[in-house]
Amino acid sequence: MKGRIVVVKEYGKPFEIEEYDVPEPESGAVILRMTQAGICGSDLHTYRGDQTQQYMPLPNTGRVMGHEGTGVVEILGEGVSSDTLGTPIKEGDRIVYAAVFPCHRCHLCLKGNTNWCANREYPTAGVWPYFTGTYADFLYLPPRHPFFRVPDELPDEILGPVNCAMGTVTTGLQRASLSEGDYVVIQGAGGLGLHATAMAKEMGASKVIVLDRLENRLQLAEEFGADDTINIEEFNTAETRIRRVWELTDGRGADVVMELVGRAELLAEGIDMLSNGGSFIEIGDIVRGREVSIDPSKLLSGKNILGSRMYKPSLLPTLLDYLVRNQHKLPFEKLVSHKYPLADVNEAFAHSEWAQTQTAVTRAMLVP
Ligand SMILES: [Zn+2]
Ligand SMILES: [Zn+2]
Repeated sequence: MKGRIVVVKEYGKPFEIEEYDVPEPESGAVILRMTQAGICGSDLHTYRGDQTQQYMPLPNTGRVMGHEGTGVVEILGEGVSSDTLGTPIKEGDRIVYAAVFPCHRCHLCLKGNTNWCANREYPTAGVWPYFTGTYADFLYLPPRHPFFRVPDELPDEILGPVNCAMGTVTTGLQRASLSEGDYVVIQGAGGLGLHATAMAKEMGASKVIVLDRLENRLQLAEEFGADDTINIEEFNTAETRIRRVWELTDGRGADVVMELVGRAELLAEGIDMLSNGGSFIEIGDIVRGREVSIDPSKLLSGKNILGSRMYKPSLLPTLLDYLVRNQHKLPFEKLVSHKYPLADVNEAFAHSEWAQTQTAVTRAMLVP
């Protein structure tokens, strides 16, 4: 049996689709048949050519693409009959897996901080077991990799972002120690920002303010519980946006500002939106080599700058449970706005691009 997988060979060039034999699973491994894989902002950076050889060199064979998504069990390796929590599984069962593939051998992994693994690398194309990215027909889960059977009551349509956007923003809000009554500012209303809006309200934020340049996304943010939105086409300077946040927070400033866009200058802007003691959470700036200058004296009043990346696998069952409880209260089914066949991956990325253009795409899914 063969399967396809999407590979980036050269930054800024169209992706290529390669074919490999589906491997025999090791004892304890699981092979999923992918049912959907989301186009994440981080993948768009690669497509756009923001990533460079200088800061993130590509191997000669290229790198496989895609990290989030869901699948069904295709082949169970020897000895596997249940998911990580002990729920029995069989071929065809729907699975959400941890999208972090850590080394398990560094001091951070030993501490349980697998999302900060010191040896984290993007998977190289053409190396066994080949199916190490999610823009593919299959995904190989190595022995003991955390994965969870999806509760039957959850529809496929809302599962795609669970193991990336949803896990990532929830972890970021936890790192900010978001508490009851807090005011939260969210920079960017894409897949991350809309989930962040929902989770901030779930965690007790009394006011959530969302910024974006796309009106359709801001409207969706309101449906997910945003109390106020700021369209940056209207408030088109940092000064006007900062002033607007202070107005909307009754002169208090924000307790938490979360950067989910991937523009370095939003750090400086976000610090000025914070009240004393507030926390700025950096998540979107995954492209290396970008710089911003800030005035460190602004931190003396207790402001925090925290980075956050992905999540620990223990969060995934909690998120599935959250979706079971809230799937009919919030429009999760609207988050994935477009679906494309895997073969049309380059077209899907072109349509998802929001950096310079308006796009109707909130989150696009590739469906093998
Ligand atoms: Zn992602
Ligand atoms: Zn590690």
